[in-house]
Amino acid sequence: MDTFDHIIIGGGILGLSIAYHLSRDSQDRIVVLERNELASAASSKAAGLILQASTKPLKTPLARLTRETIPLLEDELGEPVGFHEVGSLRIASTDARVAELESIEKDASSHGIPFQHLSPQEARERAPWLNTSAAQRITFFPTDGYIDPYLLSNAYGRAARNAGVHIRTRTDVQDLMIERDRVKGVITSSGDIAGGSIIDAAGAWASLVAARAGYPLPMAPTRSHYWITAPKPAYGGEFPVTLLPDVQAYMRPEVGGMAIGVQEPNSATFDARELPHDINTFSPTQGEEHWDVIADAMAAVSVFFPGIEEAQFAGYVSGLSSYTPDGSILLGAVPGVGGFFTAAGCCGSGIALSAGIGSALSAMVRDGHSGLDVASFSPGRFGRVDPFGREFRNRCAAARASKSHAAPAY
Ligand SMILES: Cc1cc2nc3c(=O)[nH]c(=O)nc-3n(C[C@H](O)[C@H](O)[C@H](O)COP(=O)(O)OP(=O)(O)OC[C@H]3O[C@@H](n4cnc5c(N)ncnc54)[C@H](O)[C@@H]3O)c2cc1C
Repeated sequence: MDTFDHIIIGGGILGLSIAYHLSRDSQDRIVVLERNELASAASSKAAGLILQASTKPLKTPLARLTRETIPLLEDELGEPVGFHEVGSLRIASTDARVAELESIEKDASSHGIPFQHLSPQEARERAPWLNTSAAQRITFFPTDGYIDPYLLSNAYGRAARNAGVHIRTRTDVQDLMIERDRVKGVITSSGDIAGGSIIDAAGAWASLVAARAGYPLPMAPTRSHYWITAPKPAYGGEFPVTLLPDVQAYMRPEVGGMAIGVQEPNSATFDARELPHDINTFSPTQGEEHWDVIADAMAAVSVFFPGIEEAQFAGYVSGLSSYTPDGSILLGAVPGVGGFFTAAGCCGSGIALSAGIGSALSAMVRDGHSGLDVASFSPGRFGRVDPFGREFRNRCAAARASKSHAAPAY
């Protein structure tokens, strides 16, 4: 039987980032097992917003690490990973959102993340299509931006491989081997593999993997989606990522047009047991008319972006994020089973947090602690739940709907 120090289940951005960090921080033998192709599920669908400061300050160090890791990966691999440092414009037009923005600024200050207030005219110089008449406060964070999530996943994977990590695609993990409450290895479609530690980074399927150890993770696969306009010079170009928390929408450049995401009041959630193994054979829209969602949001968004009324929509991207009831990630040891860890339930921010999560989990697996304040991300914090039932999934959908307006759900 093959033997490794660490077995990582899932070759999305999190599995690959964890592999990269473990290989950078140790001489351990590491294998990543992916049943399809690398980054073929949520990690290739993301809008790729890289936002650092937020209303959830404990996430900020993780996001900042990702921002710092991007140039390191580019140096290491000798090529760009598709990051566009266009900054983010965050616009508040009600007192509640102004208060949120102030708390985000405080968070940014305490983590050394630069920002500046803009006048309406300065904001329009950066985003000429923007109507600022409703804005009470506009803050620009110059080191934010957006990234090609597939290229970043690929970069973690290549750097890990260069450091000796084994990456096996078309390898389905079918069960865990557990002896005396400790993981010993995995049973896969290509044979058994023994491992000292096992890391569940299986995305929307992570609760199913953990259920094999008797602890289905408290998270639900939840629909996320965005729409892409046809190219148009009036709003094409490298303008900043723009967040409109009052109308729960975001925009970013997309090949001469604009990608627009809106947060629905009732996001669809799914029973992970009913998902196919390959998400590309599955539509989270479920026959619903997704154009209605953007049409419903249009009047509100047009207050800030009047051009949306005439925009031609040329594309639509949908996929599954995984949400928890409190809108925070699951990161660390899975209760009750020694040597078993997870990084999942990313609540629409797995790309932005990817290096922070990889680095923290690598330290936890090797040393038992991460060096960061991650106790509130503990996978056991909700106690035992039935994550597949309607009642629990509704709690996750509500977390997505009420996710900080100032840091929108993607
Ligand atoms: C439309 C959309 C927009 C988004 N926008 C953003 C954004 O702007 N910024 C941001 O930070 N995040 C965003 N996200 C969220 C982000 O995409 C996810 O948080 C992130 O990709 C999760 O990565 P992952 O590695 O956990 O999961 P995945 O990429 O889904 O990878 C999990 C992998 O595990 C494999 N797997 C599962 N079970 C097994 C098994 N038993 N054996 C072997 N392999 C297995 C799967 O095949 C899959 O490849 C968005 C998501 C969506 C859907």
